[in-house]
Amino acid sequence: MFKNNRLLKYKRVILKLSGESLINLKNKNNIDSFFLNFLSQEIKKIVDLNVELGIVIGAGNLFRGQQLQKIGFNRVIADQIGILSTIINGLAINNFMNQMHIKTLLMSSIPLNGICETYNWNRAIKFLSQKNVIIFSAGIGNPFFTTDSAACLRAIEIKADIVLKGTQVDGVYTSDPKKNLEAKLYSQLSYKTVLKKELKVMDLSAFILARDYNLPIRIFNIRKPNSLLRIVQGLNEGTLIH
Ligand code: UDP
Repeated sequence: MFKNNRLLKYKRVILKLSGESLINLKNKNNIDSFFLNFLSQEIKKIVDLNVELGIVIGAGNLFRGQQLQKIGFNRVIADQIGILSTIINGLAINNFMNQMHIKTLLMSSIPLNGICETYNWNRAIKFLSQKNVIIFSAGIGNPFFTTDSAACLRAIEIKADIVLKGTQVDGVYTSDPKKNLEAKLYSQLSYKTVLKKELKVMDLSAFILARDYNLPIRIFNIRKPNSLLRIVQGLNEGTLIH
């Protein structure tokens, strides 16, 4: 294994995890301790190589504003429920990483005294460079946004090399691989092609932000062992959009 961080392709990264990735695929529990243990192990591998990591966590396993709106909630309240849910997921990830002796800091874009720190750019940079994993929760803290936007925004702010979007599939395909056996995985795509073909990579406003700031995005399978490690070492994994 590399111990020399000059051999790393990416030295500072944002990992975007959807809330859905925390669901237990068998018993459908909202928060799967087995996955959280696995995730912590995968993260430890790259932290041990001195990769600086920020995690932006979603909340699709608990609440999404849009879904609550459909059943009668006011959209602002619905989004606030979604925002709070990302903090719950952040606490869960934080807990399991600490159990694996990974140094972490849970930050939230909205103040939540006694539970986590409020997001502060200076402190985030300082803790990252001291090799703490920062968990960015509460999205950007405003309704009508998603955690994809938070991932791209935080990545630009902290000058991350890339946003790694962990999903349940291996990357972006020519068509749905579950429905079409002929579907092919793209190894790379331009921002322009993603927009032209209307490929669903992430929330559109987040994607445009990434494009405007030349922030590369890699879509990959978070459940595949060593995928994170392979990516930071510059090996081919998933789909790179740049
Ligand atoms: N949310 C929000 N503002 C933000 C981030 C999130 O209002 O900056 C709310 C929104 O309701 C969203 C929910 O939190 O649906 C969960 O986030 P997201 O949908 O991005 O979760 P994911 O799909 O990644 O699990």
